[in-house]
Amino acid sequence: MKRFSYLKARGVAEAAQALAADPQAQIIAGGTNIVDLMKYDVTCPDTIIDINGLDLGDIAVVEGSLRLGALATNADTAYHEAVQSGWPLLSSAILAGASPQLRNAATNGGNMLQRTRCYYFYDPSTPCNKRRPGSGCGALTGVNRIHAILGTSESCIAVHPSDMAVSLAALDAVVSVEGPDGQRDIAFEDFHRLPGDHPEADNTLKRGEIVTAITVPANQFGQNHTYLKLRDRLSYAFALVSVAAALKLDGDRIGTVQVALGGVAHKPWRRKDVEAQFVGQPANRETFVAFASALTEGAKGYGQNDFKLDLAPRAIVRALEQAAAGTPQSQIHKVVA
Ligand code: SF4
Repeated sequence: MKRFSYLKARGVAEAAQALAADPQAQIIAGGTNIVDLMKYDVTCPDTIIDINGLDLGDIAVVEGSLRLGALATNADTAYHEAVQSGWPLLSSAILAGASPQLRNAATNGGNMLQRTRCYYFYDPSTPCNKRRPGSGCGALTGVNRIHAILGTSESCIAVHPSDMAVSLAALDAVVSVEGPDGQRDIAFEDFHRLPGDHPEADNTLKRGEIVTAITVPANQFGQNHTYLKLRDRLSYAFALVSVAAALKLDGDRIGTVQVALGGVAHKPWRRKDVEAQFVGQPANRETFVAFASALTEGAKGYGQNDFKLDLAPRAIVRALEQAAAGTPQSQIHKVVA
C-alpha cells in the first residue's frame, strides 16, 4: 500500500475544498470498500480525508419524507423504526446486503459510492478501463459470470454491487451533495451512470462534491413490495440478479408500479417509460411476464453470464407476484431449509 497523508475534516466545506484541491485525494467514511482497494493497490490516494466526525448521521422523517444522513450506518438505517414501518423495501434491501459486521460499519453514502466487484478491477495486473482508462476490458471475453446484460458498452460490462441503491432507485430517492460550487440535489436515477466510453466514472458527482444526505419520499406501497435477491450463497454474496418491486394496487389492477433491478447493469436498472405502460393493467402473472419482457428489452449476454437473460425476467415476475400478494421476502427471518 502506498503511503498517504491523513486529514480529519472538521466540516463539509473543509472536506469538499480538500477533495477539490487534490485530484489524488479520497474520502473515507466506514472504510469497508476503500481500505480493500488501497490494500490491493487498485486505488492509491495521496491524501485520505476522514469525514467520520461530521454531523451527517441523522435519520429522521421530515414533512413525510425519510431523510438519511450520509454517515448513518446501514445497520442503524435498516433497523430504524420509521424505516421499517414506512420504507420496508429499503430496510429489506439493506439487510440483503453484506454481513451484520459490515452493515454496522458501512455508511449510507459509502454504500452508494462503493465500487464494482469485477474481478479484473481488483487485479492491477489485468486490463481494466475502469481502473486504468484505455487499457481494455478483461471481462468482455473473460470471466464474466457476475457481469451486466443491460446498458453495457464495449468499454465496460461491470455491475454496481449495492442492494440499498436498487431500492432507492425504485423509491425515487434524491441525493443531496455539497461541493465547492454549493449544494444541489440529484435524482437517484441520475446519480449513477452507464459506462459508455468513460467507465472510470461510476456516478455524476463533480470533483469536490460530497454526498450529505438521501431523501426518500413518502409512499403508499404498504405490504405490496419485495426485495428479491438471487445469488450464489444465501448470505454475504453480491446479487446475480435482484429486484426491488413496489406496487400500489387499485382493486385487482396496477395503480402504480416501480421496479428497479440490481446485478444486471452499471447502475440500478429502472425504466419509467415501461412502468407507465402497465398502469391500469390487471395485476396478474400474464401482465408481470409482459412487464419483465419490456424491462429487460435489449439485454445481451457475454458468455458466462448468459444465464441472466432467463434469470432476470423470471426474478421480476416472482418479485411482482410476491408484491401483489403482499408476501414480501423476509431478509431478517430467512433460514436455510
Ligand atoms: Fe474493468 Fe469494467 Fe471491464 Fe470489469 S467490466 S474489467 S470493471 S472495464
